[in-house]
Amino acid sequence: MTIKKKSKKLESILTVRFTIILSSMIILLSTSIIAVVIFQFYQSARAQSSYVKEMLETTETADQAQWVETITTYASGNNSPYYIRVVLDSNEVIYSRAAKSIYNNFSDYQQFIFNQNLLWLSDQGPAYYQAFEKNGAQISILMELSDTYQVIRQIIWISLLMIIILIVMGIFVIRKFSRRLSAPLVKMSQDIIQIGHHAASDMYLEEQVGITEIASVSKAFNYQLGLQRNALKREQQFVSDASHELRTPLAAIRGHVNLIKRRGEKHPEVIPKSIRFIDSESKRMSELVEQLLSLEIKLQEMAECDLNLILSEVISEMAVVYSQPLIFKHQQTIYLNGVSAHFYQIFRNLIENACKYSKSNSEVKIQLVSQGNNISFSVEDQGIGIPDALKANIFDRFYRVDPARSSAVSGSGIGLSIVKRLVAYYGGQIEVKDSFTGGSIFTVHLPK
Ligand code: ADP
Repeated sequence: MTIKKKSKKLESILTVRFTIILSSMIILLSTSIIAVVIFQFYQSARAQSSYVKEMLETTETADQAQWVETITTYASGNNSPYYIRVVLDSNEVIYSRAAKSIYNNFSDYQQFIFNQNLLWLSDQGPAYYQAFEKNGAQISILMELSDTYQVIRQIIWISLLMIIILIVMGIFVIRKFSRRLSAPLVKMSQDIIQIGHHAASDMYLEEQVGITEIASVSKAFNYQLGLQRNALKREQQFVSDASHELRTPLAAIRGHVNLIKRRGEKHPEVIPKSIRFIDSESKRMSELVEQLLSLEIKLQEMAECDLNLILSEVISEMAVVYSQPLIFKHQQTIYLNGVSAHFYQIFRNLIENACKYSKSNSEVKIQLVSQGNNISFSVEDQGIGIPDALKANIFDRFYRVDPARSSAVSGSGIGLSIVKRLVAYYGGQIEVKDSFTGGSIFTVHLPK
């Protein structure tokens, strides 16, 4: 089904549902109002009728003449709603004005089931009736409620009209609202399915402006999606960082294993040295794994680190793997507070790059100096260099300058991004310049 068809369908569903809800609410409200009005009218009719009854009970009515006078007082006017009948114990019957015909046709009245006092005459409407006895006389009072009935009928008609108008207007507004809501809702659900199908893409939900409800849902969805993607990226980063960081020590170990295999039998004197190397390198690897597991650069065991000592270790390790002469002159003892594994990674990645991207016999100059509050570490090579326009990119993750150019060299484009992150963690900076020989100079500035 196309988006248009789907949104039309949703629009009708929403319209029907909202209309049902609105209509039920309007009908319920009007019915309640009418019920309250009817009840109030009934209460007032009862009170009026009871008042007449009370008057008839308390007024002196010793003989027929007094009865006639009393009845005339309470039910004589042309507009009087009361019809009174008195059956004296002498069986004489006294009627108020026009009451005789009503009482003669009394059987035409129907009694309401739920209220015995309410009667109904088809052409006149409702009436309130009560009967009682006084000194042997049977008295009946019938109170006509036709005026009240008229008012109630009017109220009902007006309510019906209002209900119809409100529902028609409601349907109009609801349709408009449903139309405004359905297309973005359908699009949003389709986009969510698309995002699910292309989990690796950088797709986000379009944040619909104007419709607050949908905007807030898509915002919340995007926020959650962002969190999940970041978590996923961190995981992927971890995997690629791990393989990148472990590649060099593994290559070195394999080199020594091959050396033992090739020459171990004839020259057993190489074995202890290689085993020492494999031992120290595998230890470093396990340290590295530990560190990678906490790659979210946590503050772990900060201590005063002897940078020269760490650098010398890196240089002697690199000298085993690479053939370039590594020129380093120990100038001064430099201590810096931090995690030694972090400094090890900074030194190793930069020196390794200098070797990777230069000829096997070209020199790599390494410097470590402390000046005032600044420690600077630089690695200068005579290699292939980095074009100016690309210097800023090489610190991005997975970026490799001209893959064709460096395809011969193994790498994943992660090393410099790790270095940059670590340097930033210590509040430092890293820069790259061209060296006079055409190669590159990487300089790291670390504050003390
Ligand atoms: P990798 O070396 O694993 O590819 P890096 O993040 O360490 O990843 O380096 C990114 C890119 O920067 C390299 O692919 C390379 O093209 C370039 N680069 C880094 N160091 C040097 C260097 N010393 N000389 C020339 N190019 C370099």
